[in-house]
Amino acid sequence: MPSSRRPPRQTPTTIGNHKLKPATLMMGYGFDPALSEGSLKAPIFLTSTFVFEKAADGKRFFEGITGKRPGGGTAEGLVYSRFNGPNQEILEDRLRIWEDAESALTFSSGMTAIAVLLLALVRPGDVVIHSGPLYAASETIIDKILPQFGVHFVDFPAGATREELDDVMARAKAKGRVAVIYLESPANPTNQLVDVEAVHAARQAAFGDQDELPPIAIDNTFLGPLWAKPLEQGADISVYSLTKYAGGHSDLVAGALVGKRSVIDKARMMRNVMGGICDPNTAWMLLRSLETLELRMTKAGESAAKVCAFLRDHPKVEKIGYLGFLEEGSRQADIYRRHCTGAGSTFSLYLKGGEKEAFAFLDNLSIAHLAVSLGGTETLASAPAAMTHLSVPDERKKQLDITDNLLRISIGVEDPDDLIADFANALDAV
Ligand SMILES: *Cc1c(COP(=O)(O)O)cnc(C)c1O
Repeated sequence: MPSSRRPPRQTPTTIGNHKLKPATLMMGYGFDPALSEGSLKAPIFLTSTFVFEKAADGKRFFEGITGKRPGGGTAEGLVYSRFNGPNQEILEDRLRIWEDAESALTFSSGMTAIAVLLLALVRPGDVVIHSGPLYAASETIIDKILPQFGVHFVDFPAGATREELDDVMARAKAKGRVAVIYLESPANPTNQLVDVEAVHAARQAAFGDQDELPPIAIDNTFLGPLWAKPLEQGADISVYSLTKYAGGHSDLVAGALVGKRSVIDKARMMRNVMGGICDPNTAWMLLRSLETLELRMTKAGESAAKVCAFLRDHPKVEKIGYLGFLEEGSRQADIYRRHCTGAGSTFSLYLKGGEKEAFAFLDNLSIAHLAVSLGGTETLASAPAAMTHLSVPDERKKQLDITDNLLRISIGVEDPDDLIADFANALDAV
């Protein structure tokens, strides 16, 4: 939304009564070529600040940014690159499309998004309710950093039932004002899905008498925005590490919040002050990535299904934690049916044996790379007990089934038969 000359042309989102799909809108939504010399693609706007036409414009825009005008920290025009920028605004508009959300905000990393969201919502004496396990750094913020400011937490296992959730909400309420209900689904590395619909119902039952309900935020990095749209099940905010599937090429770090405007506005006011906005170059790369998001995720999901079918029956495999193999009739399968449209491409593989076997497998891969992270075009494999979850206490590791024979695998967009050959070869070497 450049500050200048004329308002940008609005990109149509329908043709007659036909609503256009996100995959189509990713190519042009929110960008008006006429405002950029007719450039088909958005240029990268490398500037720290934006010129106001009139002093009164500058004043009005700052009234927006500082919250003196309604709008939750938004301004009618561009001001300064800590607050907003054309690339970031186009990216935010396009991220919003995937989940039919009211608003979106981008950040310099997934963790910045999470930290800014939490800081915007909590006050001393408050309680955060969270599902467990969480991404380790998210757990550090809630369980270690926020308590330094007098903010406490109550946690529950990701697969909790409605009864367990009612109990958690009651315990949290007894401790103080509940600031936010923070979820992550599927949990890493257990792959347990959170029943967002049940969390939503339990929140209504516990806090329905309050003027303002504690928002439900959920880390949707593993399945979103293609295979899970938790706003539809009652979440208020979808949290993303755009570093993973959304960026999708293992070449950038970024994050986002997508969801209800009233909550996003609080985070925007905080971002305006603290910084942490995604930079223009990264935003541009994400715009490119979003054009192929559905293609990449669909292909990776199909390949993962083939690879997992091969691995499941292999004699050196003990078990496999893949959302496509949930036990018929189980509670997890029921949550999956209500919340997900695909099983993703990231899964847990337990080999027979221990660290020796796991390491031999990893050291003998030739296509799949030995690296942490997920959601990129290339297949990655790692050993959580020795890497991402090394610092987790032994007792907790046992509880979460993070054993020495556990591997985490994220399938990319390579040919699935080539991947199967690679895994078969590595398993032979075990
Ligand atoms: C990677 C990741 C994060 C953190 O994102 P960064 O972009 O690395 O800051 C948060 N949650 C989940 C589930 C992740 O996989």
